[in-house]
Amino acid sequence: MERDVQGGILIDTHCHLNDPSFEGSVGDVLSRARGKGVTACVVPAYDRASLPRTLELAGRYPKAVFPAFGIHPWYLDGGGLEDVEYYLKRPGTSAVGEIGLDLAQGMPAREVQEKALVAQLDMAANLGLPVIVHCRKAHGLLYDILTAYRGKMDVVLHSFSGSFEVMERFIDLGCYISFSGSVTRQGAKKYHRCAHQVPEGRLLLETDAPSIATQTTVASCVEPHHAVEVARKVAEVRGVPYDEVCRISTRNAARVFSIPAASGAP
Ligand SMILES: [Zn+2]
Repeated sequence: MERDVQGGILIDTHCHLNDPSFEGSVGDVLSRARGKGVTACVVPAYDRASLPRTLELAGRYPKAVFPAFGIHPWYLDGGGLEDVEYYLKRPGTSAVGEIGLDLAQGMPAREVQEKALVAQLDMAANLGLPVIVHCRKAHGLLYDILTAYRGKMDVVLHSFSGSFEVMERFIDLGCYISFSGSVTRQGAKKYHRCAHQVPEGRLLLETDAPSIATQTTVASCVEPHHAVEVARKVAEVRGVPYDEVCRISTRNAARVFSIPAASGAP
């Protein structure tokens, strides 16, 4: 593939191009990304209204947007998840997500979150799809739940926020560790250690656009092209060339999310 940039191809494994703030600009955002070598984006739904928007985006940009469907713990309303299952069964679905646990204050009750997580993990196991997991202040509980699914699906811990010791336990369980803009921040020693130590075969990169600030860009202004900044920082902390991080992370992402190597055309 001919590009006007130096360096390798990247896949942003987690960005919310389905966020209303991107309405009307997704084409431009994707071409800016492509200009920097970010040729494919995994776009996870998060609430009920985002499910059809995500499907629509994937239909409009089939070679660049790879959809995931699920309800994020912040948006659980205690209702059924039949609509999620409907979208997951559509052809071209890349993953179940964004799902997970968030035990910070003010979140839906823990039982509601656990029930929805297990239901969506079961859907992934039944449909043979990987899962994209959000986890905040709940790594112990998440670990216990995931042990029952060991070997049944690929699990991606998105924008990983645990310690190195926690990361090691999840790696033993077979999980992938995805680094976001948090790792680019100068003082983020905990994340730097994880990015340095994560085994090659489990490393993924993402932006969580538009939300997670990088060292150079404030939250709400982040786009998939910032995956380049994430990859550069990961290369720096691992002490390897940028192209090497592109090669490793893109290979992992393509495998987990079934993204064809030739993706990226508009
Ligand atoms: Zn997200």
